[in-house]
Amino acid sequence: MSVTVTPPRRRKASETPNLRGRELLLSPRWNKDSAFTLDEREEFGLLGLLPPATLTIREQADLELEHLRSKSDDLEKFVGLLALLDRNETLYYRVLVENLHELMPIVYTPTVGKACQQYSHIYRRPRGLWITPDDIDRMPDMLRNAAEGDVRLIVVTDNERILGLGDQGAGGMGIPCGKISLYCAAAGIHPSQTLPISLDVGTDNMELLEDPYYLGHRSRRLRGRRYDELIERFVEAVTEVMPRALVQWEDFRKGTAFAILDRYQHRIASFNDDIQGTAAVTLAGMLSALRITKGKASEQRVVFAGAGAAGVGIGRLVATAMLEEGISAEDVHRSLVFVDSAGLLMAEKPISDPHKRPVAMTAAERAHYGFSGDGPFPLSEVIARVKPTILVGTSAQPGLFDEQVVREMSSHVERPVIFALSNPNSQSECTPAEALRWSDGRALIATGSPFPPVEYEGRRHEVGQGNNVFIFPGVGLGCILSEAREVSDTLMLVAARTAAHCVSTSRLDRGALYPDVNDLRRVSALVAAAVIRKARDLRVGRWIEDDQVEGLVARAMWYPEYQPLEGPADRS
Ligand code: NAD
Repeated sequence: MSVTVTPPRRRKASETPNLRGRELLLSPRWNKDSAFTLDEREEFGLLGLLPPATLTIREQADLELEHLRSKSDDLEKFVGLLALLDRNETLYYRVLVENLHELMPIVYTPTVGKACQQYSHIYRRPRGLWITPDDIDRMPDMLRNAAEGDVRLIVVTDNERILGLGDQGAGGMGIPCGKISLYCAAAGIHPSQTLPISLDVGTDNMELLEDPYYLGHRSRRLRGRRYDELIERFVEAVTEVMPRALVQWEDFRKGTAFAILDRYQHRIASFNDDIQGTAAVTLAGMLSALRITKGKASEQRVVFAGAGAAGVGIGRLVATAMLEEGISAEDVHRSLVFVDSAGLLMAEKPISDPHKRPVAMTAAERAHYGFSGDGPFPLSEVIARVKPTILVGTSAQPGLFDEQVVREMSSHVERPVIFALSNPNSQSECTPAEALRWSDGRALIATGSPFPPVEYEGRRHEVGQGNNVFIFPGVGLGCILSEAREVSDTLMLVAARTAAHCVSTSRLDRGALYPDVNDLRRVSALVAAAVIRKARDLRVGRWIEDDQVEGLVARAMWYPEYQPLEGPADRS
């Protein structure tokens, strides 16, 4: 069976809005500033409203970059970029797409974190949709108000765990907005197809509640049954008003995040980037490392230091990858070992977090590794007994991978693979330089935050950043184009494999486990194509012939370029 492939709607000249003069200049979607041609200036009542010279978008982008680079403070740069987005959306994305390496840390972590903290004080213009508990009965109407086009991607947060900064109340809106910028820049999803949403259920951040200028819903956080009902009504409203939208749950507290994911994963097309995106990007790094060590996923022993949303999410996906290679569930369980702040997770001990229970080690498994007694067993002992080939840090404990840990691991394996994923840099479990020094230059290391290359005994080692941006834009685009009904772990697995294969051999030779950020659009296109094929084969996405997939992706990826505007008389 085959169906006609229809890429998402692109802006055509015949869609030129009915705007003229100042109104046109004030519309960020249509404004071109000094790039309006003379014909357009005549046609649309702009004569005299702009300085006489006409610039190309390239010249405009250079000028914007010049302004931006003249600012020394990153938050000022963030505010400057936001002002550009409010003025001229196409130019904003052009600048971002062409300077991803430089600007990603401004529009997203770490700078966006500061912006979230100061949100009420730097707020200029509204972007996205706010829903409070008072709106529970009117969500469909609010979604209709918010849609500017055919919304195919929603990024929604309840603001409770914003990056590593905790509850940011209304300020959390910075995150879905930033994330959408990355979807549009990295995967070419058109901004008109996206919607950032803040479920502003109040905040328990007293500093915010006491701030007279706080812009959010001024109340303590909604919890329990009424919170669950709000989420349920939100999902119903999305299903009613935007049935083709993919929902990305973002920065929910870990208990809530797992509960929502488990409740809705099979009901609507949705995924949680903190859990599934992190898992996929970490697995991608592991698979890149295995390209160097020539190992198989199913042969690895992985120790996870940190059993939170990130650690357990990674474990789930690594398990899926191992099972696909044909080993038993028992062998997989024994090979994935979790340590939290109290040491090795043990099945017989009381564990309050439900998501940790399935990954705790059984008595038989402990006997297999030679643990004796009731513990607790600290990380160093776990490393000595399990002899991991891969060590994953999501503990937010700087220095946790100390010299003893790294040397012990390195004494058992030729190329210890170490992921120090905690953000920001100051939280990293070890630095790349330490891992290389303590492993005599043998470690393959990736981090959560960017680190500069390391020189060790005359060799330069690149440090790959396990940034979810190598995964979520491509997954989002692939799911949108294939109209996937659910975002299963298998789709995430295929995304991880694809991202791993995007790492060039020259980067692998320098120890980098991830592609270059400047290669992001190519990575996203390949991930999207792989997701489309897999969704089709799993019958969760529509049928698209193999030979149409790449063309579909290429046509769908929006590149920020001004479209010629035609005058009213020319419009069909
Ligand atoms: P979380 O609070 O849910 O989990 C933290 C876990 O670390 C908990 O299980 C805690 O018990 C454990 N822990 C604390 N001290 C420990 C110790 N001494 N030894 C072992 N475990 C210890 O947080 P999370 O959402 O899982 O995120 C954790 C970290 O991972 C953060 O720093 C975050 O920035 C980072 N992270 C990175 C990426 C990425 O790089 N792509 C993605 C997601 C999260």
